[in-house]
Amino acid sequence: MDFELSREHEDFRRVVRDFAAERIAPHVAEWDKRHHFPVDVVQQMGELGLFGLTAPEEFGGSGADFTSLCIAIEELGRVDQSIGITLEAGVGLGINPIQTFGTREQQERWLPDLVAGRALAGFGLTEPGAGSDAGATATKAVLDGDEWVIDGAKQFITNSGSEITSLVTVTARTGTKEDGRPEISAIIVPSGTPGFVAEPSYDKLGWHISDTHPLTFTGVRVPADHLLGERGRGYAQFLAILDDGRVAISALALGLIEACLELCVQYAGERQTFGGPIGRKQGVAFQIADLKVMADAARMLTYRAAAMKDAGVTGAAFKQAASVAKLYTSEAAVTATRVATQVFGGYGFMEEYPVARFYRDAKILEIGEGTSEVQRMLIARSLGLPVE
Ligand SMILES: Cc1cc2nc3c(=O)[nH]c(=O)nc-3n(C[C@H](O)[C@H](O)[C@H](O)COP(=O)(O)OP(=O)(O)OC[C@H]3O[C@@H](n4cnc5c(N)ncnc54)[C@H](O)[C@@H]3O)c2cc1C
Repeated sequence: MDFELSREHEDFRRVVRDFAAERIAPHVAEWDKRHHFPVDVVQQMGELGLFGLTAPEEFGGSGADFTSLCIAIEELGRVDQSIGITLEAGVGLGINPIQTFGTREQQERWLPDLVAGRALAGFGLTEPGAGSDAGATATKAVLDGDEWVIDGAKQFITNSGSEITSLVTVTARTGTKEDGRPEISAIIVPSGTPGFVAEPSYDKLGWHISDTHPLTFTGVRVPADHLLGERGRGYAQFLAILDDGRVAISALALGLIEACLELCVQYAGERQTFGGPIGRKQGVAFQIADLKVMADAARMLTYRAAAMKDAGVTGAAFKQAASVAKLYTSEAAVTATRVATQVFGGYGFMEEYPVARFYRDAKILEIGEGTSEVQRMLIARSLGLPVE
């Protein structure tokens, strides 16, 4: 058993770390304050090849492994979580559905720009009345001749309304199955289609730099060939997409824990109280020691799941590993940001230090791409427990 990443992976990590230090870190506090989505930096990430990491070379990607994508997300996440989620969602929810389930024509039309970071795509699953219970989708799509007519609303959709968003893939009820359950399909809706509106951005607790909108669909017409994958398989497709996404969110959370650890070690060596550095007090040092344990555990769980993905492990074993990694690492990240804010004392509450932003940004990790409760439900079921 090998617990180290390869030399190539570590070299790649250095490239992303340098990019984040040079292009993101100096500006991120100001972007956060202004709720500014930096399109130019997103496009530079594209030029660096980050959006195309796991895409095939024929569409401009580099055909690298999933572990590389996790490394990139982890490194961006150490500096800023919003930028990290922009990549995570851009690949996992934007590119991945089309790469995995799209027709050749759909791939040729959409992937080159998405892979190059010239465009972004969103994935619209969540609705006002359907989040954890995503099967309760109320958005409807009716086939009228050779067009789908879509009516409904989606909410909290990442990368869905930026100036470079080219499409949103949405799930919609397209009928009723023989057993009476709704038939749910996924349909590509290009930005600018009449009746499709990305409403103004949310005012969020954190992730201020990330692009998130409510979406409305009123008599939206798209050609029948915009169906993504098989009719009626939309729900199953999204479940598969979310398994990978959970590992990637785990990588994002890992970056946050590591950033907190690094900042705390440094600050505890500098900040003086009662005639010495606070790191000399066990009450502080032990909390930081616990952060190291969290970082190591989070790293192991994240890269174990990524390695399983790269080894072609699918089904129950991978799903369980993805949920375990997401659950542990996201909850540890929330704890780590709370500890870091505490170690920084009053300064931790000031936007002058990044820990305040980290504290605000962490909470969503326990909610997005399946809440902690949903992860516990999935893990319990994977153990054979009859949990509802
Ligand atoms: C910033 C942001 C970005 C997002 N990006 C996207 C995106 O790009 N695309 C997208 O489709 N969605 C996106 N989401 C939506 C996100 O995935 C959902 O918010 C999440 O799945 C939870 O759904 P909900 O908000 O409806 O909460 P609910 O499902 O209403 O849950 C409320 C509470 O009840 C708990 N709960 C629900 N059911 C159960 C149960 N059976 N057992 C125990 N507890 C339960 C939940 O864990 C939670 O604590 C985003 C959300 C945010 C905030």
